[in-house]
Amino acid sequence: MKIAIRIVLAAIALSMVVLAVWRWEINGWGSLVWIAGILLMNVIRAPFARQTQDNTIVESRKTLVEKLLLAGMMVGMLFPLLYLTTDVLSFADYGAPVWATVGGSILLAAGLWLFWRSHADLGRNWSVTLELREDHGLVTSGVYKRIRHPMYSAIWLVVLVQPLLIHNWIAGPAGIVAFGVMYAIRTPREEAMMREQFGEAYDDYCKKSGRLFPL
Ligand code: SAH
Repeated sequence: MKIAIRIVLAAIALSMVVLAVWRWEINGWGSLVWIAGILLMNVIRAPFARQTQDNTIVESRKTLVEKLLLAGMMVGMLFPLLYLTTDVLSFADYGAPVWATVGGSILLAAGLWLFWRSHADLGRNWSVTLELREDHGLVTSGVYKRIRHPMYSAIWLVVLVQPLLIHNWIAGPAGIVAFGVMYAIRTPREEAMMREQFGEAYDDYCKKSGRLFPL
């Protein structure tokens, strides 16, 4: 991405964070935990994204469908950001007990841990979309030992706790909808790509692992 676009996006993100922090008493402290979680996800991912850059892509399945799914995730993020920085969604606010927000924060921490571990275990095989790299190996160890999609399990955890942290009927469940669509459409395509590439080894791995939960 061109450096100028990156700077503009970073400036927009930073101003939104400042605005959201400034409004924390209106949105509740859960919203601050949510923002910290999203920022941490980006911090966790950054070094791995850099590390995979020099592992050449030999096959890309970044089709129109994939591009639309990634765009859908961006749209899904707009609702919490709108909620955190403006009053336009306040008609759909709900109250939540403190224990729900505390529980949500603990589960978010667990999700972030799994997000980090899955990046660490996938190493230079990671891609934001469906791609195979030059030295692509089939990872079946670490958190991949019993779960085929631990990174998606982690993202599921993050989007499922979002309504516990962001108390709004639109912004809270927005992540579940955006990621739910992405997960449902992408996962079978990803598994088909892996099966084509790794054949029997992938079939064996499927028998020993669950999609989102450990087998
Ligand atoms: N679905 C996985 C990985 C998400 S990143 C998870 O949720 O943890 C997406 C990329 O990871 C895909 O393009 C694919 O090339 C790669 N990938 C997925 N599973 C893999 C595995 N077990 N070993 C190596 N690469 C894998």
